Amino acid sequence: MIFEYYDIKVELEDHDCPYCKKPLEPWVAPPESGWGVILVCNNNDCPFFVGSDKDIHNKRDDSNLGCRYALNPDNGYKPFNLVAWCR
Ligand SMILES: [Zn+2]
Repeated sequence: MIFEYYDIKVELEDHDCPYCKKPLEPWVAPPESGWGVILVCNNNDCPFFVGSDKDIHNKRDDSNLGCRYALNPDNGYKPFNLVAWCR
């Protein structure tokens, strides 16, 4: 897919989430993260996301943080856990 943000046009490989089989969606990371555009599974029913809140250590009970499955195109589409708000 071709994804455009600001004045930048990037070509991204199409990837599906291995957990829920939904297509990953491009997401422009905050500039301070240093990531640029990443591919993220935005499915709130994704088994990876639903089960992730137990995996975050030292998490406050009211923080509602979870991990989404994400790939970093700048890093050879290497998967990583994107910490995100559950709701
Ligand atoms: Zn998924």
